[in-house]
Parts: sequence; structure tokens; C-alpha cells
Amino acid sequence: MKLQYDAIVIGSGVGGSCAAALLAHSGKRVLLAEKRTYLGGRFSTVERDGFLCATGGLAIQTGGCVEQVCEAVGIPSGVHPSKKVATWLAGKIYDHKNGGMTQIIRDVATSDDEAERVLSAIKRARAWCPPNNDVSFQEWLSQYTSNEKIHGVFQATISSLLTVNSHELPAGEYFKVMEHNAPITFGFIDGGSIRLWEKMANLVKQAGGDVITGASAMGFTVENFKVTGINLRHQQANHKVSAPIVVSNIGPAATAQLIPDEYLDKSFRRQLKKITPTAIMWLHFSSEEPLMEYSALAVGCSRRVNMIDAPSFEAEGVAPPGQHLYTVGGAPLNSLAPNDIKADFEAFLADLRDIYPEFDKRTRVLTKTCYRGAWPGFRTISGSRPGHRTPIRNLYNVGDGAGPPGFEGSMGAAKSAMLVAEDIKQFS
Ligand SMILES: Cc1cc2nc3c(=O)[nH]c(=O)nc-3n(C[C@H](O)[C@H](O)[C@H](O)COP(=O)(O)OP(=O)(O)OC[C@H]3O[C@@H](n4cnc5c(N)ncnc54)[C@H](O)[C@@H]3O)c2cc1C
Repeated sequence: MKLQYDAIVIGSGVGGSCAAALLAHSGKRVLLAEKRTYLGGRFSTVERDGFLCATGGLAIQTGGCVEQVCEAVGIPSGVHPSKKVATWLAGKIYDHKNGGMTQIIRDVATSDDEAERVLSAIKRARAWCPPNNDVSFQEWLSQYTSNEKIHGVFQATISSLLTVNSHELPAGEYFKVMEHNAPITFGFIDGGSIRLWEKMANLVKQAGGDVITGASAMGFTVENFKVTGINLRHQQANHKVSAPIVVSNIGPAATAQLIPDEYLDKSFRRQLKKITPTAIMWLHFSSEEPLMEYSALAVGCSRRVNMIDAPSFEAEGVAPPGQHLYTVGGAPLNSLAPNDIKADFEAFLADLRDIYPEFDKRTRVLTKTCYRGAWPGFRTISGSRPGHRTPIRNLYNVGDGAGPPGFEGSMGAAKSAMLVAEDIKQFS
């Protein structure tokens, strides 16, 4: 085991993999150390009965931060955009080829006046004065309409994209995401997302670095408020590995636990207290005949389900020949502190039975999980992230708990890696 690198990256999630690839591309010898046996963290791929299921995220924003990192380091992302997208709203399908959200709002509004009231409020908030975070998105929208279907359109977008219900999201955060990302489109990768993290890991190795799985960072070494390396546990032995730069992808709260106590200043501790992980309900199922024509279906006016993806409609090799794979996302009733996951999943399955007649007869459930706590939807709700720098010089956070405002989930994880790479270029 080598004990000296130019930079160490702890964790191979989206943020860690992107940071390691960017640093390797800039000529650094990087150690990428991952605790699990596979790369990619909550955006990876595992096999279940011949299907390649997602360990979390699988839909990558086309043209977004992940693809920008790929372009910067010179690898193809391999993302196949979802070509057929629709919204299911209270039993009716609205095909996006007839227009996106704006058209759906016009279609479901009870009058032209109502549609105009909502659309002009959105336009004003985006172009002139967005609401602050003292109101929830649902409270903000309720000023303009009580139409359940219009609320359903936004609940579908917010809960699938930002992993909280619209009554839980600070209103200002929605507009920050739209400012940086709208219109948002997604796609899937042949052979599952893990292929992309493997390509990034190869870049690290080609630049003279190493990628080790089954390796846990146990602590940082710090001298005079500057990081000097990490203590690493690998194959039942402890190693002291040195590097002048350390990038942590394990979430800001877990990072703080590895910092010697005397280096944690008061303001950083206060920021950490605001961290509130979100929860996602997640289910994979398969079918022998295709159950819909869309590879992405937003779902609104439902009990819990907010999105159904069919990655096998776009990406090669994720389902056995002649079979189809679907991933379903949903928000628990309380996505900041789910308190009855069994009841949440009963409601979730009732939604699937509404959407697909004879769901139980025509499909096979492959996985069913509620992500929360230390393995969450997002590390923290939008608007409560501490950012990519820590009080220790050259010790950085990357990941969905470290992205700048308006960059959420995998987009925020990749964006934080880009900011760290820029910082390192500027300061070293
Ligand atoms: C069910 C679900 C569905 C989602 N769907 C989407 C989607 O379709 N599109 C989208 O854009 N986003 C989606 N998201 C969000 C997205 O998956 C996450 O925002 C993103 O994957 C977070 O990546 P990260 O960089 O924070 O790293 P993480 O995924 O948190 O990875 C951190 C890594 O660090 C490792 N680690 C932890 N501790 C240590 C240690 N001490 N030493 C070494 N390694 C360690 C972990 O094993 C892990 O591999 C989804 C999330 C979930 C949970």
C-alpha cells in the first residue's frame, strides 16, 4: 500500500468520483478510497435476478454537471436521454410532447384566469423576486390556486427532484433550482450508472493513482489547521496515508466526526446542526410486456409515488432479453422524519395498482427500500448545506451535502467536485 499521494478522495459517490477524475485529469496522483465493495455510493448499480437495479439515483441530468465533468476529463458519459416523457395526474396521462409543465397547468386549470394567475406568479418569481425560505412551496402556491391538480403537478416535480414534499420545501429553493437548471431532462446509462464511475476510476489509475474498495477512512491528520492525510483501515490493518489535499464524500456530518475536536469552530458546528437528511421510498419491478410507452413518468395527485422510470426502454443491458425494468420513487408522508414506513409502502403500492391495472399479476417486485438517515435521499434538505470548504485548510466536502444553492442531488454532488477542483487549482 502506497502511503503518499498528491490528493486523497474518501468515498466514490458521484461527488467523490467526479472530484477524483478532475484531480487526476489535472495531473495529480490520487488515492480514491471507498468503504464498500462497489463504486458509486447512492448512484450505483447492483444485480438482482439478472436485472441491474440502482442503489439510489439512476437518472442523470442531460447537459448537467455530471456530463460537464465528463466533458472536462474527456470521457463519454454514455447517457441515453429519455425520449418519451409524460405526467400521470389523477388517472390521466399528459404527454410532454404536447408541452411540458406550462401546458399541463393550462390543461388542468378550471379557467384561463386561474392558469394565468399561476403562470404569471411563477414568471414573476423567476424573473424578478423569488419568495424567501420562510414559506413552504405549497404555502406560496396556495396564494394563487387551491386546484389539487396544479398542486399535484408541482408535488410530482418537487418530491421526485428534491426528495421532499412540496409542503416541506422552503419555497425559495425551488426557484434556485429552476434558475440554474430549467428545463431539466434526464437519461440512463447502458449497463447501469456504475459504468460511469468505473470510467472515472480508470482515469485515476491512468494518472498514476490508486482506487481501493473495502477501505474506510477512520480519521484525518491535521497540523496547524491544515490537513496532512488520513488514517485508513484496509484489510484489517491501519495505514497512515499522507497527502496535502483531502476531499471527503462521506457527507459533512460524517466528515466532521473525523476532524479532531479542537479544529471544529463554532459556526461550522452550528451549520452542521441544520443538516436534515431526507427520505425516499424506492422500488424496482419487472414485467414481461412493456406496461407503458414512456421511459419516464412523473406522477402527481397520488398517495406517495412521484416518478416511474423505465431504464430498460433506453439503456442496453439493464434487463434480461425480453424483460423490462422499472424504478419507482416516492415520498413518505413525512420525508424529513418518516414515522410509519409500512403504511407509507402500503399507500405506495396502492398507487402502483391505480397506475397499472393488474399490477400484482403482471409484474414482479425486485427491491423495496426506504432510504433515510445515514443512507438518505439527500444528505440534507435544500437550503441547509454547509458548502464545500471546511475550517481545515485543504480539507473539502463534496457530494449532495456540499453543493451550492440551486444544485441538488447528483447535480450538486458533481458541482461541488467542480468547485473543489477550481479551488485547488487556485490555491495550490
Ligand atoms: C433512492 C434514490 C434515488 C435517487 N434518484 C436520483 C436520480 O434519479 N437522479 C439524481 O440526480 N439523483 C438521484 N438521487 C440522489 C443521488 O443519488 C444522490 O444525490 C447522489 O448519489 C449523492 O452522491 P454523493 O456524492 O453525495 O455520494 P454518496 O452516494 O453519499 O457516496 C458516498 C460514498 O462514501 C463512502 N463512504 C462512507 N464513509 C466512508 C469512509 N469512512 N471511508 C471510505 N468511504 C466511505 C460510501 O460507501 C459511499 O460510496 C437519488 C437518491 C436516492 C437515495
